[in-house]
Amino acid sequence: MAKIFMQRLWQLKVSWDEPLPSDITKEWQSYFNNLNLLNTYSVPRHVRVIAYILRFKNNATSRNIKQLGPLTSSELNLSLMTLIKIVQNECFGNEISDLSIKRSVNNKSKLLKLNPFMDKGILRVGGRIKHSPFAIDKKHPIVLPNDHVFSKLLVEYEHKRLLHAGPQALLASLRERFWILSGRNLVRKIVRNCMTCFRSNPGENVEYLMADLPSQLANFQDCSSGY
Ligand SMILES: [Zn+2]
Repeated sequence: MAKIFMQRLWQLKVSWDEPLPSDITKEWQSYFNNLNLLNTYSVPRHVRVIAYILRFKNNATSRNIKQLGPLTSSELNLSLMTLIKIVQNECFGNEISDLSIKRSVNNKSKLLKLNPFMDKGILRVGGRIKHSPFAIDKKHPIVLPNDHVFSKLLVEYEHKRLLHAGPQALLASLRERFWILSGRNLVRKIVRNCMTCFRSNPGENVEYLMADLPSQLANFQDCSSGY
């Protein structure tokens, strides 16, 4: 399936500033479903796999210098954005198509209060702080569902990266870049179910290990040997 997916990307010559075609999204879903990789691989590992696929496609279609060696941070970021587009297309397809033809989502959408908008193919939280000096990720976090395995893996990854941070610190860190719907509940659930946290303190009032808050989710390149 990975090979087929790679071939399709190559054939379509998708521009990465555009939303992904729906058939690509379906194939990717199939890739995940059939191989059951998403549950067993961590987010950084998925990001690296996709980054290599994108590099292959780029090297195969470009006449410029071929990219070799370790993945660069921009390749990894592009890969992460591609994964996010797939997840968002899967879960917020209606909102994305609404926003492509008008400037707001349907009144019944669960994203309505977030005043979402599309930026380079990514669905982000809108708001009134457009002119603040913060980076776009902080001003307009990327919207993610709370019931997709990608979001679960992302929270698990961040929880471990922050050395088993408690729910509050974990949520604050994630919100530097991502807005998970009902994120508080998901974060609490992940921490509650973490065996490492449980083993370190099996009592009811678990004192979570804390770590410094990063300015944004770490570069996945730093975590290549991670989970
Ligand atoms: Zn933990």
